[in-house]
Amino acid sequence: MIDNNEMFLLKLGEVVLKGLNRRSFEDRLLANTRRRMKSCGNFNVSLRQSTIYVEPKDGQCDMEAAYEACRQIFGVAAVARAVPCEKSVEAIVETAKAYLAGEFAAAQTFKVESKRADKAFHLNSIQISQAVGGELAEAFPNVSVDVHKPDLTVYVEIRERFAYVHAPSVPGAGGLPVGTGGHAVSLLSGGLDSPVSSWMIARRGVELEMVHFVSPPYTSQQAQDKVIELARLLTASCGRMIVHIIPFTEIQEEIRKNCPEEFFTLIMRRFMMRLAEAVAKKAGAKALVTGESLGQVASQTMLSLNVTEAVTTMPVLRPLIGMDKVEIIRLARRIGTYDTSILPYEDCCTVFTPRHPCTRPVLADIEAAEAALDVEGLVNKALEGETWIRVKP
Ligand code: ATP
Ligand code: MG
Repeated sequence: MIDNNEMFLLKLGEVVLKGLNRRSFEDRLLANTRRRMKSCGNFNVSLRQSTIYVEPKDGQCDMEAAYEACRQIFGVAAVARAVPCEKSVEAIVETAKAYLAGEFAAAQTFKVESKRADKAFHLNSIQISQAVGGELAEAFPNVSVDVHKPDLTVYVEIRERFAYVHAPSVPGAGGLPVGTGGHAVSLLSGGLDSPVSSWMIARRGVELEMVHFVSPPYTSQQAQDKVIELARLLTASCGRMIVHIIPFTEIQEEIRKNCPEEFFTLIMRRFMMRLAEAVAKKAGAKALVTGESLGQVASQTMLSLNVTEAVTTMPVLRPLIGMDKVEIIRLARRIGTYDTSILPYEDCCTVFTPRHPCTRPVLADIEAAEAALDVEGLVNKALEGETWIRVKP
């Protein structure tokens, strides 16, 4: 149902700082917003003066779903639910009275904050606030004006075609529009960390493709389904994506058979990087993303990370590198992946874990241990067994 012609104003974030490139950032954000709104109904999405207007075209639009979706789009700094009206003080007052009646009933003090994007409008922003505030104070005698610490702030924006009335906006997802920052391959496990690291890199405008390693029968179909579900949850902000599923059992078994136990995890991780790089090269992606955090486990010490990334020439982006687990968990909750991540299915990392993993590896020792394996053959075979799934919001 359309209620009072309600619509959304999306305020652009960092995009507005882009000098000459600004236009292409805006175009991408507009396209991403249009695509995202499609599943919520028939919306008109347009951009004017650093603001995206999202307007329902009919009564069939799911406004709540659209509102949530708008808040997840990267590149949007803030979202306001607003009602357009004619550009006159009377119309603005009438609209505020009807649209914000509930807010006024709950408040004891208020103020009006105005913005005049249309400089031709006959009142300046202070005059608008005074005129509208005065009338609203009369209309709601139980609520008084307080310009310093009001319970309710009524926003009035005079724009090109209409005036808009709204209560305070809420924060958007921030960042840059997906697709403006290139293309990367993210290593997605079923854990807490990698969904968060993927989200953080996508927020910097990077389009992602996922790689997930499976080790049946040591890992289950449920474990794989969980990762697909995590990817699906991420599409709300990261956009549709491909998840590559790569068989990893033989590599792990060969490592266990032929390499010293203390190096199991490190050698395994080097294989993951080689395979992810191969997928990235084929996809034209320019970087790898992992959920590693310095010192979290033996394979994430500085020396271990160095040994791991020595097999790839691509940049390895690790947005969680300096974050504490509690911060990562907080973010996982915020982006909605926490509940799925904590489902208790085995990941391939947790099968064959050494009792005493090496925390201070020397690259030459690892390379010597790997010499017992047919690295190229194993990599090629794993890549031949690759399958993929396209995941959409
Ligand atoms: P996570 O919580 O993301 O699983 P973790 O703290 O458990 O991370 P590890 O298991 O050592 O750490 O893995 C480090 C990183 O390697 C992960 O964040 C992820 O990017 C990648 N990774 C681990 N296991 C897999 C897997 N099965 N498939 C794809 N990537 C993986
Ligand atoms: Mg893990």
